[in-house]
Amino acid sequence: MKLLKDRIQQDGNVLSKEVLKVDSFLNHQIDPELMQAIGKEFADRFMDAGITKIVTIESSGIAPSTMAGLYLGVPVIFARKRKSLTLVDDLYTASVRSFTKQETNDISVSKDFLTNEDTVLLIDDFLANGQAALGLLDIVEQAGARLAGVGIVIEKGFQPGGALIREQGIRLESLAIVESLENGQVTFAEEVPSR
Ligand code: 5GP
Repeated sequence: MKLLKDRIQQDGNVLSKEVLKVDSFLNHQIDPELMQAIGKEFADRFMDAGITKIVTIESSGIAPSTMAGLYLGVPVIFARKRKSLTLVDDLYTASVRSFTKQETNDISVSKDFLTNEDTVLLIDDFLANGQAALGLLDIVEQAGARLAGVGIVIEKGFQPGGALIREQGIRLESLAIVESLENGQVTFAEEVPSR
């Protein structure tokens, strides 16, 4: 997605060989127009997939997911990160090791909002080692819902998450794939055709 890649080149900060900071339009300050374009792009790609719910994870997945939900006309559920769980009976939960915070969180989704009648699109801001996506996949499986695919705003292609998901035969649509963050430069890979 050219608009996104241009914005990453313009405003992204390479923090290290592994971490890209995009606080000015996605992770802290949010650019609504860019989010709208991102949401439309996800919606265009998954328009015919029969999606009934979008599932994401707080907090940075919420903005792009909400815009995609607007275009697809479906609700958006964000998995909550919780330290302790008391209402275990009413929740689907999974453990996720955070790439940026280096801590493990339980994430949870209420059973009220996801059922075996749903067809789900998972969306997240970044894909690195794939832990967040695998946690969300686990929750979709627990619900008995059908997975239509995974939509990622920025995939870091040099980390294993993308391969982990694609090798399970899951449709993965990444709007920008970063090939390298070497020498403080962002280099993009060609987009991987889905399935
Ligand atoms: P994963 O679970 O795939 O290892 O990491 C994905 C999660 O970590 C995303 O939800 C995102 O919040 C965070 N993350 C991973 N890599 C980066 C990065 O380079 N920059 C930022 N801003 N967040 C990242």
